[in-house]
Amino acid sequence: MCRSHQCHIVPPHILEELAKRGNISCKKTLNDAHRILARRNSALNDLLIRDAIPGHGDRLVYDSENGYEQQVKLVRKEGEGPINDLAVNQAYDNSGFVRAYFKESFGLDSIDSKGLDIISNIHYGKDYNNAYWDGDEMTYGDGDGKEFTNFADAIDVVAHELMHGITQFLGNLEYRGQSGALNEHFSDVFGTVIKQKFLKQTLEEADWLIGDAIVTKEFPGVAIRSMKAPGTANEFDNQPDHMDNYYSGADDNQGVHVNSGIPNRAFYLCCQEIGLDDCALIWFETLKVLWRTANFFDTLKMLLTTANTLKEKKKVHDSAPEAVARSFFEVGLTLEVA
Ligand SMILES: [Zn+2]
Repeated sequence: MCRSHQCHIVPPHILEELAKRGNISCKKTLNDAHRILARRNSALNDLLIRDAIPGHGDRLVYDSENGYEQQVKLVRKEGEGPINDLAVNQAYDNSGFVRAYFKESFGLDSIDSKGLDIISNIHYGKDYNNAYWDGDEMTYGDGDGKEFTNFADAIDVVAHELMHGITQFLGNLEYRGQSGALNEHFSDVFGTVIKQKFLKQTLEEADWLIGDAIVTKEFPGVAIRSMKAPGTANEFDNQPDHMDNYYSGADDNQGVHVNSGIPNRAFYLCCQEIGLDDCALIWFETLKVLWRTANFFDTLKMLLTTANTLKEKKKVHDSAPEAVARSFFEVGLTLEVA
């Protein structure tokens, strides 16, 4: 979960590389992440143990007015019409689309399935190059206009970040090592699924990119990540697409944004065989039965169990279990390896 580790859409190594090339905003964004992390670590924020805050799944959008605080000025709440601020309306509309997708597809009542209000903070910081979920609310920077643009505008970014919240409540995957890479993976899965729904794309039309809408032409790449071809989205994209290239270093919480490329590619391959909706259902139902320290192998095992159960109930294609197994075999993960 992201209680003590904010779940940012732009991973630290990309900001570090851009900072090395002289982008001051990226350096400031990195520094601010460290500052908030320290504050969050001391301010207990564990949604799993604290008393539930009654909510109605309402959207509340706050304007940080380019400062570094959250919930500064409430500018639009559920049911109110658009205001004269694009980022406000984008955060409102995109979080509404994400909420509706999970409600209609899986009967989920907001992020925690108990009607948690969806809080968005926009215009966070000055030239702030990131967006994040930090355990109970969303925060979006405007981007510096050099490498990144307004983060609230990107449906996959909004879906990715809100999915961190859902994962926190459903699976609570620890944000380090393989469980952390899976946490990132589930956010990319529903980021891309919801993006394709939002854009009404077919599998063939989809680009399978994450964060293509938040990077400028000057950014050295086309997006933050690619699920179809991990490692190719930008000059700093270090994601492997196979277990042979698994990252076993300590950086990035032991590679949470790196090794997620492996299951991401498996998800892409599986979608090619049985379609987006069957895969989304199998993945979502699997997340519900995963546990805090689940690793890649555990997840494959549970995906196969779930696919078989759903197949018996005639909710997914008959070939779903084989498709899941084949897709993971392609990225170097098989049950026999146990
Ligand atoms: Zn993330």
